[in-house]
Amino acid sequence: MTIDIKNLVRKNILNLKPYSSARDEFKDENGIFLDANENPFGELNRYPDPYQRKIKKKLSELNQIPTENIFLGNGSDEVIDLAFRIFCESKKDKVLTFSPTYGMYEVSANINEVELINLDLNEDFQIDLETLKPYLNDENLKIIFICSPNNPTGNSIQNIKYILDNFDGIVFIDEAYIDFSPEESFRNQIENYPKLIVSQTFSKAWGMASVRVGIAYASQEIIKFYNKVKPPYNISQMNQNTILNTLDNENINQVSENIKIILEEKKSLIENLEKLDLVKKIYPSDANFILIEVDNADNIYQKLIQENVIIRNRNSVIKNCLRITVGSPEENKKLIKSLKSIN
Ligand code: PMP
Repeated sequence: MTIDIKNLVRKNILNLKPYSSARDEFKDENGIFLDANENPFGELNRYPDPYQRKIKKKLSELNQIPTENIFLGNGSDEVIDLAFRIFCESKKDKVLTFSPTYGMYEVSANINEVELINLDLNEDFQIDLETLKPYLNDENLKIIFICSPNNPTGNSIQNIKYILDNFDGIVFIDEAYIDFSPEESFRNQIENYPKLIVSQTFSKAWGMASVRVGIAYASQEIIKFYNKVKPPYNISQMNQNTILNTLDNENINQVSENIKIILEEKKSLIENLEKLDLVKKIYPSDANFILIEVDNADNIYQKLIQENVIIRNRNSVIKNCLRITVGSPEENKKLIKSLKSIN
């Protein structure tokens, strides 16, 4: 398949001469470094590797994906924002999302002054292909965002392959919650779909939300543009070290153990929620959170706060729905106890 990524990229980005940092110009690790206006004293005095090569090498080995197909961002929120900057001309191009979904696609669209087409998911929170089809030929539609498992609904999205096969623009699949899901990641499809971006994050299953590291897997052509537009040193050395440590075998095992515990806790949380009269519906979830419908979400949300339990009130997005993150066994017990006292 011939790749025409360049036809999708904004002209100014195509022509952009990227910033060339001191570490771009001299890559060796050894030497007397008098090239970056750094301070010679201290332990945190040097700029970090701008391309986070050690982390990418580990991710590459872990997932059998070449390092050239990996980009790391300051959280996956940066991965989302840079997609707008690379592909979307302000006040001209459009992106498409399926709602309800993660709020940052819309915020990034607004920041970048890009029109957002928002199609409702159907009552099972799935994409209605018939509604989508007329939009697939819009030449100003640059990116379709698909969040799977979806936030805040928790379910995996079906028919993604149809969109990959029938849309000529960028398909951005946000897999922030994929490590909790039985579904296979689309990152293994980047070879087949040169316009696919799969974003993942260290913030959820990896338990590293405070470190702010997100991942994009995509064709080398797309990754090159990501590297062209990113801030020169977008991930600090301390954060790179923390992620590298997490990627040690021993720590990976701990991450897997924690995922197992969270999934067992989710099962038991659902069993307990089912017994409560105030819970009207529990939506299926492939993530580390559960969306429930209640009679009066605002009321229950406030009462839980009085019990010192904070969940997410999604009433403004999906009527009378609350989103509950699966916590530790003790936290979940406290949640159920508090809900019983409201019941
Ligand atoms: N995508 C989704 C679907 C999310 O829910 C979140 C965070 N809540 C993000 C991306 C952003 O994650 P990060 O911490 O990697 O910026």
